[in-house]
Amino acid sequence: MIFRQLFDPQSSTYTYLLADSESGEAVLVDPVFEQVRRDAALIEELHLRLVCTIDTHVHADHVTGAWMLNHRLGSQIAISAASGAKGAHRYLADGDICGFGSRSLTVRATPGHTNGCITLVLDDESMAFTGDCLLIRGTGRTDFQGGDPHAMFRAVHERIFSLPETCLLFPAHDYRGLTVTSVGEERRFNPRLGGELCEADFVGYMTNLGLPHPRQIDVAVPANLTCGSAANLPAQAADPDWAPLSYSFAGIWELSPQWLEENLRAVQIIDVREPDEFDGPLGRLPQARLISLGELSGRTGELDKERPIVTVCRAGGRSAQATVVLRRAGFENVANLPGGMLRWRAEGRAVENAAM
Ligand code: FE
Repeated sequence: MIFRQLFDPQSSTYTYLLADSESGEAVLVDPVFEQVRRDAALIEELHLRLVCTIDTHVHADHVTGAWMLNHRLGSQIAISAASGAKGAHRYLADGDICGFGSRSLTVRATPGHTNGCITLVLDDESMAFTGDCLLIRGTGRTDFQGGDPHAMFRAVHERIFSLPETCLLFPAHDYRGLTVTSVGEERRFNPRLGGELCEADFVGYMTNLGLPHPRQIDVAVPANLTCGSAANLPAQAADPDWAPLSYSFAGIWELSPQWLEENLRAVQIIDVREPDEFDGPLGRLPQARLISLGELSGRTGELDKERPIVTVCRAGGRSAQATVVLRRAGFENVANLPGGMLRWRAEGRAVENAAM
């Protein structure tokens, strides 16, 4: 199985990618709207097929990426029936199974933070995804969205603490950078409802938290009640359209060597190698101009802000960093030539000044 824990720093949300390595089928738990481009890049680089996204509940602190991922990758949208959300393909109830290849997640209803909260348990009970029910040494809040501390206490004890002691627990958020816990640890050390603490202790604790109103709630809840569909979306920068670009999980815009060969004169080609490499046996791209990576930030004034820039180097590494340097300097239409001169030559494309 492939497993990745992804983080959205804006909302401190964890998104989880689980995939069956045999079939390549994948699910995403709690995708974040602003991270859809990143998540899609990872899924593509790992050659996975996203079969569905599952939201553990209607979030109040970020907009789900479910609708946007359905739009981009064709994944089904799943959320609990009790969430009240519209626009999903699948409405989950306690005991339902979400399969991906030969693996699966089982739904356990764990209300309390919201009435529609679910925990997702991996088939072998080695991992569970607790959403905003049980957090690491904490719990989700219970003071809005139909929250109920009594229900939460019972859900945690009956549906989560009943899993094996060693079962790893992955929450939807952590605000201190903690990443994972286990059933055994939380049973002993959770300061709100672990150890000998009883339901009345927990309710007393939860009714006196005094938390501020979540910043994004007025945007996030209406958007999430439609699974993040277009009508309620926050603004997001559109994908660049000056060339057919792809976005890597490393965060770099890349373009295909073929497109570049056919459009050499439409762009500025900046070769960021050292002078001896530029004049060396690998040769260089037609129209390429030499500005070594080390000099680039000091020489951006020489570049035309209006024409897109493609960066190139020996193997595509330094030129990826060059796109970062140029973006920082305010150039928006910048892309890397992945694989650099090595791939360009291996594909038999036009080269100048090369040793034969
Ligand atoms: Fe929440």
